[in-house]
Amino acid sequence: MKRSSFKLLGEVIEPGRGGRLNLEVAKLHTNTPIQVPVIVQHAKKEGPVVLLLAGAHGDEVNGTEIVRRIIKRGWNKPSSGTIICIPVYNIFGFLNLTREFPDGRDLNRSFPGTKNGSLASQFAYHFMHEIAPFVDVIIDFHTGAVQRNNFPQTRCDMKYTASVELCKTFGAPILLSSSLIAKTLRASMHKLNKDYVLFEGGKANRLDERVIQSGLLGVQRVLKHLGMKDFKVEQPKEELIFISESAWLRAPNSGMLRLRIENGAFVEKGVLLATISDPYGNFERSVKAPRTGYIFCVNETPLVTKGDAIFHLGKQGEL
Ligand SMILES: [Zn+2]
Repeated sequence: MKRSSFKLLGEVIEPGRGGRLNLEVAKLHTNTPIQVPVIVQHAKKEGPVVLLLAGAHGDEVNGTEIVRRIIKRGWNKPSSGTIICIPVYNIFGFLNLTREFPDGRDLNRSFPGTKNGSLASQFAYHFMHEIAPFVDVIIDFHTGAVQRNNFPQTRCDMKYTASVELCKTFGAPILLSSSLIAKTLRASMHKLNKDYVLFEGGKANRLDERVIQSGLLGVQRVLKHLGMKDFKVEQPKEELIFISESAWLRAPNSGMLRLRIENGAFVEKGVLLATISDPYGNFERSVKAPRTGYIFCVNETPLVTKGDAIFHLGKQGEL
């Protein structure tokens, strides 16, 4: 039987071929169309459709670099199935090095979107109608916002067991139990019964090689697991740490923050995590771990205001 072609965004990709398509979303004031580049490779052999999506938040550049390297190395050419790459989804934010759209909207709080809503809502709407229905698995790349540095991790709502398995296969050092948040792409994709790997690593506006390597290895492991690409890929050296419960530790006072532990560290209750001091040499306050667990996100800003989130501390659970 002849393998069928793949249709997306009004284009037809024949088996064994690829294409550079555009998701057309809106127009600038100058009537210039806004296009999100979409790179597709369709194998001769049947298989799943995997979407590698980065830059839903425009300043989270680690994901864009991960997807770029995948394309550059030809890893997006599967031996079976179809791989769709979107290296930069929120192109407005990418141009301006900002998380949001020009009107301040967060694309990842605008799903499933409406045709005539805000610009972010239109981006969500076009994606949900023109790309999402044709995808089986999505790997969505994020980083911490602003100065919050996420230790490489996948996040999953544990009731979606197929997605949990893919996150385990991805093999980032940490898997975080994370309930669905309303209006996110993840919530909308689960409604369509799609499998979802949410990868978080590093912080905004920073290329972090360790995070990029973690993401690249994860994609290789998932594509191999799905039978789409025969990579020789190493398995994680450390056992996966599953975080079942987590909470932010907040700054007890305003001042200059100095971190005393490494991101990803296991800490016992009472261990010194950071000091916060005024700039005049009058006081220095210790921030200690209120319970035993793993630190998997640290705020790397030099100045904090009382109440700012400074550490994300998680309790290890059983998978
Ligand atoms: Zn993000």
